[in-house]
Amino acid sequence: MSKVLKLKCVKCGREYDPAQVLYTCPECGIEGILDVVLDYDQIKKELTRDYLKKNTDYSLWRYLPAIPLEDTKGIQPLQAGWTPLYNIKTLSKETGLESFFLKDDSRNPTASLKDRASAVGVAKAYELGRFVMCTASTGNAASSLSGFAASAGIKTYIFVPETAPEAKVTQLLIYGSNVFLVKGTYDEAVELCFKAADEFGWYNRSCAINPYLLEGKKTVAYEICEQLRFQAPDIAVVAVGDGCSIGGVWKGFKECFTLGLIDKFPKIVGVQAEKSNPVTRAFEKNTYEFEYRVPETIADSISVGIPRNGIKALNAVHESGGYMVDVSDEEILTAMKILAQKTGVFGEPAGVTSFAGIIKMNELGLLKGDEKVVSIVSGSGLKDIKSAMKAAGKANLVEPNLTEVRKIINN
Ligand SMILES: *Cc1c(COP(=O)(O)O)cnc(C)c1O
Ligand SMILES: [Zn+2]
Repeated sequence: MSKVLKLKCVKCGREYDPAQVLYTCPECGIEGILDVVLDYDQIKKELTRDYLKKNTDYSLWRYLPAIPLEDTKGIQPLQAGWTPLYNIKTLSKETGLESFFLKDDSRNPTASLKDRASAVGVAKAYELGRFVMCTASTGNAASSLSGFAASAGIKTYIFVPETAPEAKVTQLLIYGSNVFLVKGTYDEAVELCFKAADEFGWYNRSCAINPYLLEGKKTVAYEICEQLRFQAPDIAVVAVGDGCSIGGVWKGFKECFTLGLIDKFPKIVGVQAEKSNPVTRAFEKNTYEFEYRVPETIADSISVGIPRNGIKALNAVHESGGYMVDVSDEEILTAMKILAQKTGVFGEPAGVTSFAGIIKMNELGLLKGDEKVVSIVSGSGLKDIKSAMKAAGKANLVEPNLTEVRKIINN
């Protein structure tokens, strides 16, 4: 029996049979993102603490009972998920916390959290018999789709802004995707990709319209719960661009609670770059209307003018009793350096934005010191060397003898 009861529109609440609708609510159009409503009574019978304790699949597929696939033939060997959760004790000065937890999702095959979504998206495409996929992306969703599609023999068409970091574009090309560098913003790349998908009949991976992608992202929360020995954190901090990641994180924690794996929810805190912050502005005005401003941030993965999944993002924050905070580009670069130098975890700008958020929360007096706080590092620093170099400083250039080395050492 299918685990999916229905698809429910987050805007108008109308419900659909999954066989009826592929992407968004036919009544609301592009804003009517659907939520996959699962049969938890059925899932609960299988997905228990005991089941997980005995499970030797160290990937996101250990949560397969909660992932809405009708068959498993599209599951690839490439390992997404089961990334480390570190207990960090070296940053109490910066965070005001005795210790906190770092979920290092840069440790996925293409080096970002997006791999969780792509693993499920590709498996879904297989199930539907759709072997040409597309996406628009600030970079990571695309490189991730490219990698997973390559492993599955699926053809891909990718639309990224021409300003996407070189490493991410290189990933697309080496995985063999057909790449369109769009002379415009991410928002324009999205429009173009959706039009092309319509015209050429491609299966669209964009998390902003495809309801199944979030079902992969939610597994990061399952892992956090399991790695904390089935205790919920008090606060989970997530960088927000389109809002799919934070929506997935919240759905994962809610499900862990519903399934009896944990006995309370964490607060979900969203972090945006201060000049790319439509979700924070909407949260502060207590509205679900997002006001467009040209986004400006070094954190390309969250450089978003119109949040495509803003409703789910705001729901995550409101329903969990959390809040939004903003950080500046300078704070992001500082956070990148501190994190690398005190933990050995090297994140890209958006990847360390949640950690920058924790430093900010401490400065604003929002942390108590003994709370269990988790920061999700969502992407690797090697994806954007130019930004990292701004934070890293310069190396010493020397002649190949000891004279200059001595001078520098003794200085
Ligand atoms: C995509 C991405 C985010 C933000 O996720 P959204 O779903 O767009 O909110 C954060 N960090 C990294 C590294 C990403 O690639
Ligand atoms: Zn609707």
